[in-house]
Amino acid sequence: ARVKTILDQKGIERTLTRMAHEIVEKNQGGESLVLIGIHTGGVPLGHRLKERIKQIEGIDVPVGCLDITLYRDDWSKLSYLPIVKRTNIPFTTDDKCVILVDDVLFTGRTVRAALDAISDLGRPQKIQLAVLVDRGLRELPIQPDFVGIRLDSSPNEHVNVLLKEIAGQDQVVVVQK
Ligand code: 5GP
Ligand code: MG
Repeated sequence: ARVKTILDQKGIERTLTRMAHEIVEKNQGGESLVLIGIHTGGVPLGHRLKERIKQIEGIDVPVGCLDITLYRDDWSKLSYLPIVKRTNIPFTTDDKCVILVDDVLFTGRTVRAALDAISDLGRPQKIQLAVLVDRGLRELPIQPDFVGIRLDSSPNEHVNVLLKEIAGQDQVVVVQK
């Protein structure tokens, strides 16, 4: 397998700092923001964005999470079916600006399921999408509002997102299978 590092620890930190600035800029400071991370990678990223928004604007943005698992409903197909397993969103999303956070955006199917789940929970004023890596290869018309790094990946590549909260180190690598 060929391995290429696309973000090191400093790179991830700078990228998240930039994204936090973009989020508060696009939302006039962010008084009505709430963050929802998609388990697993999106959750620590949501908390890191919260910390940075606190540093920039001095406000406490609530962070919730959605657990979405991918099942292949038919092994003859490449695509899979995302199922919402658990939600932990202990605050109202009514009239809020929800920032959905994930580590990698690929086909868009997970985000589509997340949008359904969020719509079942309340009536946000708007929903925006922040991802650390957009690897392209979308199968649905879903685009991120905030992107760490954009790749033109191929289907036989995989992006390994290592985060210190989960993996003990910060690094993003592309692995060619
Ligand atoms: P999608 O539903 O857009 O096809 O895939 C997005 C979900 O699958 C995300 O929650 C993401 O964590 C995971 N995913 C898809 N491709 C990759 C990848 O190359 N690397 C990692 N780490 N996760 C991926
Ligand atoms: Mg994931």
